[in-house]
Amino acid sequence: MPDSAPSAVVVGAGIGGLTTALLLARQGRSVTLFERRTALDEAGAGIQLSPNASRVLVALGLGPALARHAVTPDELVVRSLSSGRRLAGMPLGETMRARFGAPYWVIHRADLHTLLLDAARAEPNIRISIGRKVTAVAVEGARARLSVETAGGATEEREAGLVVGADGLWSALRPALGDTRKPVYRGYAAWRTTVPAAEVPDEMAGNITGLWLGRGMHLVHYPVCRGRLVNIVLVARAEGSVNVWNSKAEQADVARHLAQALPALRTLADRPLDWRVWSLFDLPPPRPWGRGPVTLLGDAAHPVLPFLAQGGALAIEDAAVLADALAGEPHDVPSALRAYEAARRPRALRVQQAARENGRIYHMAAPFSLVRNLVMARTSGEAMLARYAWLYGWQPPQHEARRNAA
Ligand SMILES: Cc1cc2nc3c(=O)[nH]c(=O)nc-3n(C[C@H](O)[C@H](O)[C@H](O)COP(=O)(O)OP(=O)(O)OC[C@H]3O[C@@H](n4cnc5c(N)ncnc54)[C@H](O)[C@@H]3O)c2cc1C
Repeated sequence: MPDSAPSAVVVGAGIGGLTTALLLARQGRSVTLFERRTALDEAGAGIQLSPNASRVLVALGLGPALARHAVTPDELVVRSLSSGRRLAGMPLGETMRARFGAPYWVIHRADLHTLLLDAARAEPNIRISIGRKVTAVAVEGARARLSVETAGGATEEREAGLVVGADGLWSALRPALGDTRKPVYRGYAAWRTTVPAAEVPDEMAGNITGLWLGRGMHLVHYPVCRGRLVNIVLVARAEGSVNVWNSKAEQADVARHLAQALPALRTLADRPLDWRVWSLFDLPPPRPWGRGPVTLLGDAAHPVLPFLAQGGALAIEDAAVLADALAGEPHDVPSALRAYEAARRPRALRVQQAARENGRIYHMAAPFSLVRNLVMARTSGEAMLARYAWLYGWQPPQHEARRNAA
């Protein structure tokens, strides 16, 4: 990267911000990462990393560390929440890796975050500045001016020729760029907990990702921490829960939702588990998505419902496309950013739509659920994989590779 290429400011040290910082630093760009939190701890929950995301992290050299912490489930097993009947299955493990060229992993969020953070800290081109909340951004031609509030309450001004807002669902940069829409609450909340593997009901044991479909709700579980813990996510309609985010959940709410589940799963509500709850939102990407030398990435640009397990994956894909666009136009940052945004809009919209559609299918009540179950029973695992080829088969663009080959 030539010396005169503008240095970058990345706002937010979540999955998207850290991946972006690593990719830009590896191009030789110097990166400052502002994170508003003072302690970089993550929710006690898991995350699924599908091949479209894992291939980017593997290309960053994080494969061996991820493989040490992640679990590779053998199969996705879909069952009825009320009867326990198996409805369908889709091979994961080696089949997924062979078909899409990268692993399908499940991992504890704290492990993923620590790994990304360690890689960023080891990178001489990255400066991580925690306890720094970006409160405003003003675009002045090809430069941007940021206001940054310190943990002590002071305000600092910072100028940059490249700013990436990876500041999540409640982004401060999105409204600062002129999009005053709020994320749209979709009437569902997610309750999450982890349970020692030895203590889960037998129906949840094994090296699988389990998906249980009920009326107006579904439940997902998979092993994390090398199989020591099982991550459980319960998604259900929650008309009143518009504004909860990683809040302590009422055990009674969990019990109420699990009332339609088979008895073995209902026991989860009787235990003193630390359930936490999130309201679920999405929002189509803003138009325009960025301005001048400023752009958005991940949940800040296109929050997505978690019914396809793709919000983090989209943020990682964004980072790869952004880095590639900047590799192609190292000096003309605004052009590179507009090319990145144009490339990502259709993908983000498609994933958002597919996630909403999954919610509709997962949460059907009878008689529609009976038809759904019949269709699922007739769909082979191979056919399910083929249906998701557009999603999991995504490949990062390779401007640098093309240029080197020319
Ligand atoms: C129940 C549930 C299950 C999910 N499961 C999956 C899954 O299995 N797979 C998957 O890929 N995705 C999943 N997701 C989605 C995924 O968690 C998010 O899409 C992903 O974390 C988004 O990453 P991000 O980096 O864009 O934002 P975030 O992870 O939200 O990071 C934003 C960062 O910016 C910081 N920040 C915010 N404002 C400022 C500011 N003004 N100044 C400085 N810093 C700031 C925040 O503190 C935070 O560290 C799930 C989501 C939910 C709710």
